[in-house]
Amino acid sequence: MQVKTILNRIQRHRSFVYGPARLVQGARLALEVEVRPRANSKARCSGCGNPAPGYDKLPARRFEFVPLWGIAVFLLYAMRRVSCPSCGVKVETVPWATGKHQITDTYAWFLARWARRLSWKEVAQVFHTSWEKVFRSVEMAVEWGRAHQDLSGVTAIGIDEIAWQRGHRYLTLVYQIDEGRRRLLWIGQERRVKTLLRFFRWFGKERSAELRFICSDMWQPYLKVIAKKAGDAIHVLDRFHIMAKMSKAIDEVRAKESKELAAKGYEPVLKRTRWLLLKRPENLTEKQEPKLAELLQYNLRSVRAYLLKEDFQFFWGYVSPYWAGQFLDRWCRRTMRSRIEPMKKMARTLRAHRPLLLNWFRAKGAISAGTVEGFNLKAKLTLRKSYGFRTYRGMEVALYHGLGALPEPRFTHEFC
Ligand SMILES: [Zn+2]
Repeated sequence: MQVKTILNRIQRHRSFVYGPARLVQGARLALEVEVRPRANSKARCSGCGNPAPGYDKLPARRFEFVPLWGIAVFLLYAMRRVSCPSCGVKVETVPWATGKHQITDTYAWFLARWARRLSWKEVAQVFHTSWEKVFRSVEMAVEWGRAHQDLSGVTAIGIDEIAWQRGHRYLTLVYQIDEGRRRLLWIGQERRVKTLLRFFRWFGKERSAELRFICSDMWQPYLKVIAKKAGDAIHVLDRFHIMAKMSKAIDEVRAKESKELAAKGYEPVLKRTRWLLLKRPENLTEKQEPKLAELLQYNLRSVRAYLLKEDFQFFWGYVSPYWAGQFLDRWCRRTMRSRIEPMKKMARTLRAHRPLLLNWFRAKGAISAGTVEGFNLKAKLTLRKSYGFRTYRGMEVALYHGLGALPEPRFTHEFC
């Protein structure tokens, strides 16, 4: 059997035929397969896509294809130039590659698929290619997927922010969080009014009008834009963001108190207690449990703040917004008397956003609670895995690829 028989089976092009194949021993063993235009077929102009009369022929170019048995595979083809009535002299367009790419679309999709399972660096190593080529492949897949994705039926979105570049800069991420359909919809640089306005411009007026639920944290620029652009939607301050803020407050209390104790020469009781105080009790390890029990015997501000936080967890269990509101008011009154400044600040913030907080109970069942948190974790993991992304573009492409649930074209043959 000849190589071209396989190629004709898995990837046939109407106006081109496969010629003979030969093995070439370079730095790596390679298989080169000649490609020729079918007799009487006209080249198509890369400017407009129409068939046009021939002009001349360029030297043969190599297009990398999916490797076979660890052997690199290249299609060898001499591009024709056409004299197009509307575009002038142009290089022809070929169905197996896009623009000036040195790799075939098939191989690019192959690499992009592997890049979902491995880091880009690992994909490059496994397939003996460059990081740059893997990046370009994933970028191509993301561009195609974003151009072909279906944005209808989005009724619930979650807005989240993530720090990058060691916390010096922020990204705004918008997710679809409908039951049954969850994905990353959009990424923007910064977390300003301008940023979120850009999302709504991209999303469009009609689709924005169909939004029923929007989850976000209490970040003022977001609140402002949401009220303006999706006023009919129920705006929910979600559990994940509130509890994250609460944890920050506890961290602050603990850090300050720990310093004070050390300054007074007390035994550092608060040393290595950070996670004891931030974790939910049911998530503690066997070693941590007795440590927490011991810590709770002290009348420390950190301990009292921790107990306030744990008490607040009951809030999320309510069904009726009315009773949840009663609980919230009681909790805030108690916290205001605690004389722990970061917690008092938290209570003031919660009071100020009371209606949006209670919307959580109005949205119950329509949006899944853990979604934003789950995406937040995945996004952070993607960023951490991606040491190579010094640029915003690299990071953006990786996040869309990993979390966007983007569609792919249908292939006649599945390579991986
Ligand atoms: Zn043309």
